[in-house]
Amino acid sequence: MTDLDAIFRNATLVSGERAHVGIAAGLIAAVIPATEPAPSAGEDIDLDGAMLVPGFVEGHIHLDTSFYGDAWKPHLPCTNGFDVRERVAFQMQNIASAAPMDQRARNQLDLCIAQGSTSMRSHVMIDADVGLGHLETILAVREEYAELIDIELVAFPQSGILASPGTAQLMDAAIALGCDLVGGLDPASFDRDIEGHLDAVFSIAERRGVGVDIHLHDGGSLGLFTIEQIAARTRRLGLGGRVAISHAYGLGDIAPEQQRRIATNLAEAGVAIMTNAPGAVNFPPVTILRQAGVTVFSGSDNIRDSWWPYGDGDMLRRANIIGYRSGFYEDWELASAFDVVTSAGAKALGLSGYGIAPGCRADFVTFRAQHVPEAVVAVPGGRSVYKSGRLVARDGKRVGVN
Ligand SMILES: [Zn+2]
Repeated sequence: MTDLDAIFRNATLVSGERAHVGIAAGLIAAVIPATEPAPSAGEDIDLDGAMLVPGFVEGHIHLDTSFYGDAWKPHLPCTNGFDVRERVAFQMQNIASAAPMDQRARNQLDLCIAQGSTSMRSHVMIDADVGLGHLETILAVREEYAELIDIELVAFPQSGILASPGTAQLMDAAIALGCDLVGGLDPASFDRDIEGHLDAVFSIAERRGVGVDIHLHDGGSLGLFTIEQIAARTRRLGLGGRVAISHAYGLGDIAPEQQRRIATNLAEAGVAIMTNAPGAVNFPPVTILRQAGVTVFSGSDNIRDSWWPYGDGDMLRRANIIGYRSGFYEDWELASAFDVVTSAGAKALGLSGYGIAPGCRADFVTFRAQHVPEAVVAVPGGRSVYKSGRLVARDGKRVGVN
């Protein structure tokens, strides 16, 4: 066996098995049954039965528009029910008086890393007014945090694509600059042109060879029609496995038989669904989607921003919220909520080398729980977070950050 930098003895894995986990050169080098003697290593940590699980996957966040750590921004209600345009206007007002964006993004990253996320997908606002300004800032912060967390960026047309002329060209330029995916926003209710909006999104994806992640708040038949259009384009372009729809509230508005039919379509097309199980709105049926073979992942979405005041960057708590709102009581259901924030999230983000097995990256979290179902209901603190085998956070605090 190669020389181990560290050995974590007596870990409880997601499977429930006890094992010694050896680390070398930032990778997991050995997973040995705990009944066997632990090999020697530079550093020896006895977990005494604590869990050791792969790093959490924060699959949907907005690093540029959060005010976490900034002055409190009271939530402004919409004049006449939820209105994306009005919320975007509130957001621009709040940003005008906010702390510098790089500082706010760092606050949010420190929070997420401290809770156990080792990879992330962030949407970054692009429109005719802000141009590529937000992206340039977030790209620099990503560089700064490269050894602490892996970050995928989505070119997000927060003000629409057709409604904000020049945005399609800016999104294309954003990909050239380093964005990993093309975003979208309510093609029907925002741009009032489903085909035109999706033409712009998918043509950039095709030309640049990148994935797609579209915000879709539209519910009812409008939302379902849009979902089917996205699935059809994904099939046509052979983009299966690289396309996601975030929110997809419409999937929560229909009867189970119809949900199963659309779930089969999404699974066959290779379209993933992101839900953060938000309060007071219908949201996608996690079990029906998963049983049909759809990759369901999750994220904090907004944290202290202009959309809602909630969020703590903790993906284990997010699994708890998903389970609570979905009515998950049985162990297999609780385990499925955990999968959403770990392995399924990794699949949705296309992460390689994810997991606790030899050759995988040594990105993991340790905490005390008997097993995964208990972790999901108890949301234990006292976590240690490792990125490429290096301790980056402990007890809810980034190591080396006050
Ligand atoms: Zn979002």
